[in-house]
Amino acid sequence: MASETRRHHHNLVPLAALISREVRSEKMEKPNVKYGYAAQSRKGEDYYLVKTDCQRVPGNCLSTFSVFAIFDGHNGNAAAIFTKENLLNHVMGAIPRGLGRGEWLQALPRALVSGFVKTDKEFQSRGETSGTTVTFVIIDGWTVTVASVGDSRCVLDAQGGGVSDLTVDHRLEDNVEERERVTASGGEVGRLSIVGGVEVGPLRCWPGGLCLSRSIGDMDVGEFIVPIPYVKQVKLSSAGGRLIIASDGIWDALSSEMAAKSCRGLPAELASRQVVKEALKTRGLKDDTTCIVVDIIPPDNSLPPPPPPKKQSKLRSLIFRKWSHDSSKKLAKKLSAVDIVEELFEEGSAMLAERLGSDTSAGQSTSSLFTCAVCQVDLAPSEGISVHAGSIFSTSTKPWQGPFLCMDCRNKKDAMEGKRPSGVKVV
Ligand SMILES: [Zn+2]
Repeated sequence: MASETRRHHHNLVPLAALISREVRSEKMEKPNVKYGYAAQSRKGEDYYLVKTDCQRVPGNCLSTFSVFAIFDGHNGNAAAIFTKENLLNHVMGAIPRGLGRGEWLQALPRALVSGFVKTDKEFQSRGETSGTTVTFVIIDGWTVTVASVGDSRCVLDAQGGGVSDLTVDHRLEDNVEERERVTASGGEVGRLSIVGGVEVGPLRCWPGGLCLSRSIGDMDVGEFIVPIPYVKQVKLSSAGGRLIIASDGIWDALSSEMAAKSCRGLPAELASRQVVKEALKTRGLKDDTTCIVVDIIPPDNSLPPPPPPKKQSKLRSLIFRKWSHDSSKKLAKKLSAVDIVEELFEEGSAMLAERLGSDTSAGQSTSSLFTCAVCQVDLAPSEGISVHAGSIFSTSTKPWQGPFLCMDCRNKKDAMEGKRPSGVKVV
């Protein structure tokens, strides 16, 4: 092994050059973000959010990031509107202060989980019916972080890298895992049956009759319909790429691939209109149909990265493999990002303990020692209940260690896991 490595180093770009290339690409200017929005409304329950001037460090324009989101409401629009107005603040409120960019990006997946659950809890406490899907996209430089519940998709058409989904569909009809989770938590999954016992329509969850397995709101359905998002974080290559964020009005008519192909070569504004047009052509206006196209474009003054000669790239991939075996995973991952889309994070579990407890070091460095990991209220030392207490994870994790939950959030966690009957308030 050692001799092989030495040989590579002789024939190839020296390690130092690779690293300095990476440093250059890190320092490289942020990409330009251009977007277009198009929609056709039928029920008026699709909402969207575009915010291109968010700042990680308030007042520092170098820390700017963008947020794009779609909320597809059902049984009314209250949940979609409430989520549009509150989710971003709740997510940001769950990130410890004073983090550098790298730490901030690492803290995002967990903060997204907290923000989604807090928003759901707050909306439900208002006692209004209705629910919403959420597909929430944060773009910071070349790093794209997507959190989603429901079936509004975010598709990546990477420059030279092909089409891939950055979300999963939380639909009972096609998501077997979610169907099993809902059933195990006490929900019943079946179709509507009409006179004569004929079953029609998509699989739904009872009580409530929702076709989705995750959403925000929906207080009138079982609490196993959870607001815990699937989260995926990727870093694009310096060639950039295109995101297509859209509600199911698009995806019921077009595959991810079809949507991406239908608008290639068009600027974002025209592309979003083209995708909507294409979907309506196939299916007509059966549902609210909303599409945001976001282009992440290399800055004008940067040269496109020279394509490495074939031979070299083959050998480089050998080096990466070698390095990742050498537990220099981080370095290898970073270096390979020069050419391809790099997956930084992916987690879809519906278990709150798994989502909040996966990282004990990075979180909870906020001002207060005891803060509820979901709603961020301060806790007296006696009040906090470890997210791990009484769970299957308590064998591997000390139950007195954080993150902690307030009583209210602990009750919500139990309800989401089917540990108490839906709708029964614990006093
Ligand atoms: Zn709480």
